[in-house]
Amino acid sequence: MKAWENNIRKVTPYTPGEQPQKAGIIKLNTNENPYPPSPRLAQLLKEMNSKDLRLYPNPAASSLVDALAAYHGLNADQVFVGVGSDDVLALAFLTFFHSSKPILFPDITYSFYDVWADLFQIPYETPALQEDFSILPEDYYRENGGVIFPNPNAPTGIAMGLNAIRNILDHNQDVVVIVDEAYVDFGAESALALIDQYENLLVVRTFSKSRSLAGLRIGYAMGNPLLIKYLSDVKFSFNSYTMNQPSLYLGSRAIEDEAYFQETLRKIVNTREWAKRELRELGFEFTDSKANFIFVRHPSHPAKELFQALRQAGIYVRHFDRERISDYLRITIGSQEEMETLIRFLKNNLSS
Ligand code: PMP
Repeated sequence: MKAWENNIRKVTPYTPGEQPQKAGIIKLNTNENPYPPSPRLAQLLKEMNSKDLRLYPNPAASSLVDALAAYHGLNADQVFVGVGSDDVLALAFLTFFHSSKPILFPDITYSFYDVWADLFQIPYETPALQEDFSILPEDYYRENGGVIFPNPNAPTGIAMGLNAIRNILDHNQDVVVIVDEAYVDFGAESALALIDQYENLLVVRTFSKSRSLAGLRIGYAMGNPLLIKYLSDVKFSFNSYTMNQPSLYLGSRAIEDEAYFQETLRKIVNTREWAKRELRELGFEFTDSKANFIFVRHPSHPAKELFQALRQAGIYVRHFDRERISDYLRITIGSQEEMETLIRFLKNNLSS
């Protein structure tokens, strides 16, 4: 190692799922929405004026914050926006997890959490999920420097009820508790209803999954105005203008088409439940996912082999080569047609 390398911050980065550029593949590996955003956005894109790009965007991202506050029935000072929920979560780790006590998150969960903890040198412990991959609330009753978990959890898709979340909050009054609701719209109960009761609760959402807008990079957090203020202070100590003008403009209008949003959700949930029935018939075992993916294993076909065979057929799913879950594949729910192609391929592949 060169001498100058000694003083460098060395980290092991998060590995995002592949974004293959090939045409004609079926992409079920990064939990994007198979349906396009509301057709109204196409019109808005045309109406966008390049003149508006000359100036810096509004640093408070007010148009988007106001639209989200109105949508959720909150005040603007209860909402914080960022460049995808990854940005919001990274800033939340930096802001709220500033303790010498370890923060807690499940051993099997979103694999960015340990990366941020390492980057910001936050000590952490990872209570093991139960045998059935559910979170045991009691594991979060011990002393800690903060708590974070996704609901539904990823990559298992298992949702926790509000009572269990309330129990975790009741036992964690002295730290910030973050519920990452990236997938909540697909069938879990939101903890948003609890933010008035628990001033230390931060709920994080994204436009990337249920809202078909991963390309816009919008995430947001909701909570007590004091939490939002602390988060904003850190954000404004880092980069004032993260939210670009087109994202602010399109994002603030994207939530207007509620009927389209609900229709898209309904289609994905129906396809998910259909896919579960088909996969069960093929002998797959899986958790009861409430997200837009299914976490499956087959008792007689190793996940790695299935992953390779699917990939060769142009069907991309996600395989995590990690302890406890290396037998599993995470399959994003695509369109009904894409899922029928997947099932057809599996039928042929498993029988041959
Ligand atoms: N939380 C969870 C649990 C996720 O799976 C993801 C998607 N990788 C994110 C947050 C971040 O999504 P985004 O930055 O696109 O909002």
